[in-house]
Amino acid sequence: MVDSQYVLPNDVGLALLDCSEAFRLLLRGERLYAHYLSRACWYGGLVVLLQTSPEAPAIYVLLSRLFRAQDPDQLGELARSTGLTDQEYQAFLVYAAGVFSNMGNYKSFGDTKFVPNLPKDKLRRLIWQSQAFQEQPEEMKLLWDRCGELMFSLDAQQRQLGLREKGTTTYFSGNCCLEDAQLAQKFLDSQNISAYNTRLFKEKDKAGQTCYEVRLASVLGTDAPVDHELAPKLRSFEFEGCTFRVTRGDYAPLLERVVENLQRTKAHAANTNQEHMLEHYIRSFTQGSIAAHKEGSRCWIRDKGPIVESYIGFIESYRDPYGSRGEFEGKTRGPQIPASKDPGEPGGVGLSQVSASPTSPDDDIRQTEGFKNVSLGNVLSVAYATQKDKLTFLAEEDKDLYIKWKGPSFEVQVGLHELLGHGSGKLFVQEEKGTCNFDREAVINPETGELIQSWYRGGETWDSKFSTIASSYEECRAECVGLYLCLNKDVLRIFELEGEDAEDVIYINWLNMVRAGLLGLEFYTPETGTWRQAHMQARFVILRVLLEAGEGLVSLQHTTGADGKPDALITLNRNKILPVGKPAIERFLRRLQVLKSTADVAGGRALYGGFSAVTDEGPERFLSLRDTVLLRKEARKMFVQANTRLEGEDVTLVQYEGTAAGLIRSFSERFPEDAELLERHLLELSDADSHFWHKPPKQLPSQSRA
Ligand SMILES: [Zn+2]
Repeated sequence: MVDSQYVLPNDVGLALLDCSEAFRLLLRGERLYAHYLSRACWYGGLVVLLQTSPEAPAIYVLLSRLFRAQDPDQLGELARSTGLTDQEYQAFLVYAAGVFSNMGNYKSFGDTKFVPNLPKDKLRRLIWQSQAFQEQPEEMKLLWDRCGELMFSLDAQQRQLGLREKGTTTYFSGNCCLEDAQLAQKFLDSQNISAYNTRLFKEKDKAGQTCYEVRLASVLGTDAPVDHELAPKLRSFEFEGCTFRVTRGDYAPLLERVVENLQRTKAHAANTNQEHMLEHYIRSFTQGSIAAHKEGSRCWIRDKGPIVESYIGFIESYRDPYGSRGEFEGKTRGPQIPASKDPGEPGGVGLSQVSASPTSPDDDIRQTEGFKNVSLGNVLSVAYATQKDKLTFLAEEDKDLYIKWKGPSFEVQVGLHELLGHGSGKLFVQEEKGTCNFDREAVINPETGELIQSWYRGGETWDSKFSTIASSYEECRAECVGLYLCLNKDVLRIFELEGEDAEDVIYINWLNMVRAGLLGLEFYTPETGTWRQAHMQARFVILRVLLEAGEGLVSLQHTTGADGKPDALITLNRNKILPVGKPAIERFLRRLQVLKSTADVAGGRALYGGFSAVTDEGPERFLSLRDTVLLRKEARKMFVQANTRLEGEDVTLVQYEGTAAGLIRSFSERFPEDAELLERHLLELSDADSHFWHKPPKQLPSQSRA
């Protein structure tokens, strides 16, 4: 039997992201705008397959072909006739749904691999009997040869994303280790090149010298005419005894579709901010320019309260093992719907959404232009739906209150986290020319009482400087801001929370945080000593800080469940939040902020690494608690998203049922005009680079097909 960590359970939660109401409220022009923007997001989403694992594109193509030729129900009948049990077929459907919704065979939240929970030979037999195989036997056989083995294998190095022996990644060629990533970052900083839309490939040249290719994502190739911004960057550089060759054109055929659709979107823009935003994004994806994307983000911020909200690009760097390369994401969201009875229920409904994290733009833009908070209303409200019996590790008497207030308290926390967390905190920077954005003779470090000793220089940024810990550290800072500011009554009044309700929201927000810290242990890998999810590591760190505050604020106990298996219980003393919790978070947040502001990497690593350590030392014995958490974990929900269809001059919405089959159908109909062409592009793109990870694959005869 496969370790449950690496399979998706047959009863995994699946929910429809209902956006019919939001869609109904759009005018025709807005529907067209939303449609094309959402097309751009979905095409771009395919990039994630290439950013995940060497085998992910082939798995996606194999599954797409199977289900395009046969609906899940039809394939199910065939499965039974070839000897699969109902459970085995359900496991296959869940696997396919997982690959589609994570855009790859590694969990987008947690970065562990998941494999089909049925015998490999049974799946092979089903594929061989399938309609898709009858139609294209050679191609299907070659696809299976390419990914069948890797789909199921759980070698230690393949179990999670990571560099070289620590895991799998396609942000780097397989021969790159941490030192390569560090050297590349130094090079990128020296040339003021952002890592966000890049990948790194290492090779030896004929003379045996190490040669790195830094490849930018763009429609245009290296030989195409270059604009003035990129002209000095697209060439070879000698740097610390190595050659760095900056090229571009990564994911070109996919980004071409993104750009086409952004161009069509532009025709339906509601105002000039939107038009300019789209123009900058088009230039960014065409040229490979992060500067253009930043310009686009500036317009995005100025586009206040649009009917159709969006964000698209290489944005969050959670999945790069080094922490500076962005995963493609795209979101399109419909209008705010009048709030339901549920207090604090958020509005806004996602039409398409390829990755589910709330978003705010780059540090430097936050510092100068401001920010905007994107919370995906229908994602949150589906995620809220919690059954009491699935509420692990809480005391019975906390559960009802938790269910009642989890939604509203989460809204408060997310709002504060995004706007005043990520949106606050100055970085001290000295520009190339020597000018500082702070007074070197006056600004005092509150931790030492002395003048500031360190700061960011030249091209250095937060991500480039703090690299592997940057994402999680920053999430932790933002979470601390949320915890701290939710204690402020004026803040709660903005969320229309007063009196006893406000007290309950504070309590549940803090309780939820310490419970999340415990649940976070699921995302720690003891074998490699690494964390795989930035937010969950951040919450674990906060739990440690609050435990360390002592005085009975938080209590964490090992227990035995009613089923006789190990369990745990976490409680928070409501009356200690203000006198004990608040000062503890205040002190910790100030330390985090000062180290961030002053570019003190060594101090930051010592502090954050210390609190992130997971050991079996008493009294908590976190390593043992991790086993308990794994034993009782609940699989993350998957969301079924609608398609929009152009019909004549208007757009219609197509929704699907909230099941694995519904999710698969939504993908079978996602690219009705060009699915086969896209799949060919995906295979060619992954073929072209496959030697960076393993032996050259057998060539697909795809080019010969009409
Ligand atoms: Zn965040």
